[in-house]
Amino acid sequence: MTQRIYNFSAGPAVLPEPVLRRAQAAIWDLDGTGIGVMEHSHRGAAFEAVLARAEAAVRTLGGVPDDHDVLFLQGGASTQFFMIPMSWLSTDDTADYCDTGVWAQKAIAEARRFGVVHVACTGKPSGFAALPGPDEITWSRRPVYAHFTSNNTIYGTQWPTEPTPPDGAPLVCDASSDIFSRPIDVRRYGLIYAGAQKNLGPSGVTLVIVRKDLVERGRRDLPTMLQYRTFAADRSMYNTPPTFGIYVLAEVLAWIAEQGGLAALGERNARKAALLYDALDRSELFRAYAAPGSRSDMNVTFRARTEALEAQFVREATAAGLDGLKGHRLAGGMRASIYNAFPEAGVRALIDFMADFERRHR
Ligand SMILES: *Cc1c(COP(=O)(O)O)cnc(C)c1O
Repeated sequence: MTQRIYNFSAGPAVLPEPVLRRAQAAIWDLDGTGIGVMEHSHRGAAFEAVLARAEAAVRTLGGVPDDHDVLFLQGGASTQFFMIPMSWLSTDDTADYCDTGVWAQKAIAEARRFGVVHVACTGKPSGFAALPGPDEITWSRRPVYAHFTSNNTIYGTQWPTEPTPPDGAPLVCDASSDIFSRPIDVRRYGLIYAGAQKNLGPSGVTLVIVRKDLVERGRRDLPTMLQYRTFAADRSMYNTPPTFGIYVLAEVLAWIAEQGGLAALGERNARKAALLYDALDRSELFRAYAAPGSRSDMNVTFRARTEALEAQFVREATAAGLDGLKGHRLAGGMRASIYNAFPEAGVRALIDFMADFERRHR
């Protein structure tokens, strides 16, 4: 059997080992039914139970109130980039967006197809290494919603807490890379979306938590599959949902609950990240990319003295069983993605390896 190594991939990303073991067994036989999870009809009792478990876990863990729907969609976070403005933004309306890097810009580009986008703040001057402070956000007068990206996977920045939108504007959040990595107050949000493949499960399922009155208000002259109400009315079962992805997501959420829930996980994630940032701040060869106060607990981005050393570092780290450390091509350098399931031992292994590398390259 091959040994598992430390996987710093930004997504799809590391999953909890007990979940992988349970999924292995469930592929063969789901809950003693004699049928594997991928082979069950989505209309049968066995999958119905899985779906109910997934929804209940999202509600319990996230403290999702009854006035929000929990939906399991397809198409990734990138589909939400257009589904959101398509539902609520029309040509005479304005939606506000915080421009905090690549993913935010992709969301902005899609919104511009449907209406006016007001960029309420931008991290451009800092090379997206810093997030705007509260006084650096200028909302428009009456936006139909206000959108932000809670964790910027590519640059390694994370909002310490959500921005406060102008009165009456629902807050919309792309939480793809930090959903359920720390406590969240869902009541403050109109819509939260996340592709599952970073913190929740495999690729192919997208979690959407959306206020019911917004679902009601969404445009009605769209294709059936592009309206939130279709999925809200049918508990994500209008057509065949991504059954295996929902199963794994339910198991990941059960694992999070076993770890003590979001508060416990948030503390653990903060501790893991602090270890790495401390090492970077002490180093003379490496430096953290993101500014203090904006640093992500999920994606730790860093640079070395030269690009040649960065390439050598990534190569040697990979050979040493530390995989996936190359930064996104647009940001360069290195990125250690240390999501919920990434073990602290792996963070310590990286820190040791960095110290060793630095000794050899003074
Ligand atoms: C990965 C990522 C996306 C893209 O997700 P897909 O599911 O591949 O469409 C969008 N936003 C953020 C913040 C991401 O990290």
